[in-house]
Amino acid sequence: MGLFDKLFKRKNKDKKEEQVEEAPLESPSNQSEDLNASSANESFQAFIQEEKEAPSDQSIGSLAPVEDKKLGLEEAHQPVKIEPEEKLEEKYQKSLKKTSRSFGDRFNALMANFRGVDEEFFEEVEEALILSDVGYELSLDIAEELREEVRFKNAKKREDVKNVIIEKLADTLDDNGLNHSLNLQKDGLSVFIFVGVNGVGKTTTIGKLANRYRLEGKKVLLAAADTFRAGATDQLVEWGQRSQVPVVVGREGGDPASVVFDAVKRARDEGYDVLLIDTAGRLQNKDHLMKELEKIIRIIQREVPSAPHETLLAVDATTGQNAIEQAKQFSSVAPLTGIILTKLDGSAKGGIVFAIESTLKIPVKLVGLGEKIDDLEDFSPENFVVGVFSSLL
Ligand code: GDP
Repeated sequence: MGLFDKLFKRKNKDKKEEQVEEAPLESPSNQSEDLNASSANESFQAFIQEEKEAPSDQSIGSLAPVEDKKLGLEEAHQPVKIEPEEKLEEKYQKSLKKTSRSFGDRFNALMANFRGVDEEFFEEVEEALILSDVGYELSLDIAEELREEVRFKNAKKREDVKNVIIEKLADTLDDNGLNHSLNLQKDGLSVFIFVGVNGVGKTTTIGKLANRYRLEGKKVLLAAADTFRAGATDQLVEWGQRSQVPVVVGREGGDPASVVFDAVKRARDEGYDVLLIDTAGRLQNKDHLMKELEKIIRIIQREVPSAPHETLLAVDATTGQNAIEQAKQFSSVAPLTGIILTKLDGSAKGGIVFAIESTLKIPVKLVGLGEKIDDLEDFSPENFVVGVFSSLL
């Protein structure tokens, strides 16, 4: 059964009027502990010695003083939190209200003017799709397919034509064959790198994901490898406290690779399950960013050859085509394994999801549905399509 059929099945099903409860923020813990970094420093120096490539613009070799917040992990472990499917669907629908309205209003206006399936109508469809952030090429493709489909199905009635449009868009997510699950290792350490320009919601996402994994009983470590931006480390430490997981930090302006080196070593030595690495997303200097990421990846692979298991780009859904541009740019810097689409609860037009998956062939893996610690969900094409098109059906 395709997404479109599921969408109809869902719409017809009786739904419980269950309210989504808003979970309070986790209260921060106060315990903290300092780390002695000298031995890690020596081996990092040794690693750097072996590096053939000259260091980039920063003086590498001195491991930034590493401190650590150890926040009573053992006690903090709580039972696995599983979001019931019904509740998840509601959460998507609730969060996508603005997006759905934007999509819905545009298409309802289009359909209100519907006089028949002539060339002018197809051009209006193209325009509506482009304005909904679906992207220029994909919008033309969909309009073209629509022409054929309308001819083939002889769809002439307003309702039929509307359904063909929704079906085409839903199929775009269905047909890509992309894997939307995070590549979490069953055994051993999973290492995820997070990239993205400032302000898109990268740190927030790391904090939310850390909390989710901790609640699932995993031992989680964070690495603050965005040493470039003032305040980035403090912000991650704050999220570490909120989600009750320790954070390995370096000094501001220090070498991010040294933070990663220490974090990976620590994660391996102390049997962590998940290491989430925050990086500086300075797209302005692509060569530098590429070198920095390459070095970080080399360091990780020294300890964990199969890593990184995910390189995730966070983009802000409300920035529309700009998010696509960022995804293109970052793809040329590092091979991305997934996209995190943040702020889908905002005024995103929604078409961005179709554009990313169809044009870039990169799966959306996580979506940010708000600012709270539990406002992060796995991307579900089905729930997304239901959420976006609910006002249209
Ligand atoms: P970073 O610079 O990429 O690390 O971005 P931050 O994590 O600091 O987030 C920037 C702003 O976006 C903060 O005010 C966050 O609360 C907000 N934010 C992040 N994710 C979401 C989301 O999914 N929904 C909403 N509404 N706001 C978000």
